Amino acid sequence: MSAYRPIIERIHDFLPVELMPEEPDLRRDLARCQDCGVPFCHASGCPLLNAVPEINAAVLGGRWLTALIRLLDTSPFPEFTARLCPALCEGSCVQGLHESAVPCRQAELAVIERGFAENRIRPCPPQRRRDLAVAVIGSGPAGLAAAWRLNQAGLRVTVYEKDARPGGFLRYGIPDFKLGKDVLDRRIRLLEREGVLFECGVEAGTDISGRLLLQRHDILVLAGGARQKRDLSVSGRQLAGIHFATDYLAAQNRVLNGELPGLPEEWTARNKRVLVIGGGDTGADCVGTAWRQGAVSVRQVEIMPRPPETRSPDNPWPEWPRILRASSSHAEGGERLWSVTTTSFAQARDDPSRVGAAHCARVSWEEREGRLHPVSIENSAFVLPADLVLLAMGFTGALPDPLLRCLGLKIDESGRLPRNAGGRPGGREIYACGDMTLGPSLVVRAINDGLRAAEGLLAQRGLAPN
Ligand SMILES: Cc1cc2nc3c(=O)[nH]c(=O)nc-3n(C[C@H](O)[C@H](O)[C@H](O)COP(=O)(O)OP(=O)(O)OC[C@H]3O[C@@H](n4cnc5c(N)ncnc54)[C@H](O)[C@@H]3O)c2cc1C
Repeated sequence: MSAYRPIIERIHDFLPVELMPEEPDLRRDLARCQDCGVPFCHASGCPLLNAVPEINAAVLGGRWLTALIRLLDTSPFPEFTARLCPALCEGSCVQGLHESAVPCRQAELAVIERGFAENRIRPCPPQRRRDLAVAVIGSGPAGLAAAWRLNQAGLRVTVYEKDARPGGFLRYGIPDFKLGKDVLDRRIRLLEREGVLFECGVEAGTDISGRLLLQRHDILVLAGGARQKRDLSVSGRQLAGIHFATDYLAAQNRVLNGELPGLPEEWTARNKRVLVIGGGDTGADCVGTAWRQGAVSVRQVEIMPRPPETRSPDNPWPEWPRILRASSSHAEGGERLWSVTTTSFAQARDDPSRVGAAHCARVSWEEREGRLHPVSIENSAFVLPADLVLLAMGFTGALPDPLLRCLGLKIDESGRLPRNAGGRPGGREIYACGDMTLGPSLVVRAINDGLRAAEGLLAQRGLAPN
């Protein structure tokens, strides 16, 4: 089981909450992995196809170098997934059928961090360069994975990033208490020393046109993410104090990395009653961030019903279990409400320009034409006081930004940039990967998709790996 710093201590800082697993505890837990008949974790669970049983067996036998080599065979950035992945492998763990799953994610964390501590992870530049230049647009996990793979194959890779620093949501979104940015910087430094160039603060399509990019580079890999935020169009939405969750989280990241001198009053939860709308991971990150900023109270509302405590019959093993989950932020306090819709926002009594409350109602879910629809329950209206409202309702898809227009590419109705059978959204020289094509997803899937896009590119160009 994961071990965390005591709440009373961690609530006062933004340092990582999870502790490194103790070796004896880890080995005891991993011993259960060896009782497995036919493992499903690697093939059915992990998108990267990490050889989980082999890695666990190596750790159990104290063969740490073997474990590291096996891990790096399939996973270019285990230090990210080991901290952020919901551990899809554990969802399909055979042991998890009857008791808790084997802690594969923690084994991954121990292996990769030991590798760094023993100085085994060093820059590994390609042995020869090829005369082919690639521009990767976007430096989130998908762009970084594509850049890493193409650079390894000897291509000349430049990553263009519109933000001030690389990382995508790894840097501006995911709180430092989940992923310390020193971990991200360590990997960026390795990529740089391996030969990847980063051009940050450059928005492709605006600061540099698509045409110029294609003059400077032979191939473009688009990895711009799914960043069209889902809004709540109810009366009072325009009031001050109502923000998108990712803007709020990114502001806190910027303070911590020194880009902002401090949080303006508008952005901080200090002395405020906070309402988070959206019950997912982003919402949970807002809960933990708001407590650390000194919120008076934190509530999280979700329109969907409360998930079951255990698997329902239509969600059998080894599928990912769709069950109630509580993050480390939830353990820090606050209230979670389910099957609740927000119908309007009301002004604060002392300042009509600011939000003071949210009007809500309970909903039930009814099936019509094979789809579930929320229906407000009569006389169920209630009011939640709120001085800061954070909209964490996810993303509807990729942004139809100037670069896509310039390249003549269109986002489809599902909000994704569609790819053809060759894995490309356009001509021979354009590839795409990550949330931009998958829709809002997970770090591990974005990394996997970046790798697959790079492999496709290399195969189509007939380039054998270096
Ligand atoms: C708050 C939050 C918490 C999350 N927590 C988790 C978690 O715990 N575990 C997990 O697995 N997943 C988590 N996710 C999801 C995960 O972060 C995403 O699935 C993943 O980052 C997607 O990777 P990506 O590379 O496709 O896109 P992104 O990470 O979105 O990166 C896209 C990058 O492209 C850049 N860009 C876009 N357009 C341009 C342009 N025209 N020119 C230059 N640059 C451009 C953007 O600035 C950005 O840096 C979280 C997401 C959020 C928002």
